[in-house]
Amino acid sequence: ERRCALETSEEAIVSLETLTAAIRDIPDFPKPGIMFKDISPILQDGALFAEVIDIIGGRYENQQIDSIVVIDARGFIFGSALAYKLGCGISLVRKQGKLPWKTHSVSYDLEYGSAAVEIHVDAVSDGDRVLIVDDLLATGGTAKAGVDLIEKIGACIIALEFVIELSFLNGRDKLNDYTVNSLIAVRD
Ligand code: AMP
Repeated sequence: ERRCALETSEEAIVSLETLTAAIRDIPDFPKPGIMFKDISPILQDGALFAEVIDIIGGRYENQQIDSIVVIDARGFIFGSALAYKLGCGISLVRKQGKLPWKTHSVSYDLEYGSAAVEIHVDAVSDGDRVLIVDDLLATGGTAKAGVDLIEKIGACIIALEFVIELSFLNGRDKLNDYTVNSLIAVRD
């Protein structure tokens, strides 16, 4: 069952249904038991992609946002378009070993083992107002690692924005101190 998390005009609700229909469920990818939410059909539809950016970006039009912190790899796509709309830059959070300059690093637990994400030490500055953007919130481990990187630098996290949230995994519980928004919540 899916629920549109956003309360907007009737017109916009119709398009959120369209948005929901444009998420392709792929069972057992990349591992057995995982239902992968493929956002490719959203990206392939220019009007829909633009609408996603307009809805999320609309929340920040009158706020000063200094940078959008984008999470490897599908967060890069939504976050870049959003940065163009808001007239700011992006700062990359990447998986370990991908960034060429000096980095801060944070490790986090996965179902089996652990992973690490990194950010350039000068990607954002102390006191910057930033948004964190990714395509999907699952357990929240990745987003929390992103939050920890930004907190190390001392920038101010205005909100975290996701297109999809798997709410049955309670990822929000790891992000209690922050504003967390998603366009579509998948409840089971
Ligand atoms: P998590 O750290 O568990 O919140 O996982 C979030 C990250 O993993 C995001 O960068 C997502 O792109 C990716 N991810 C996790 N689960 C899924 C899923 N079911 N479908 C698509 N992407 C996922």
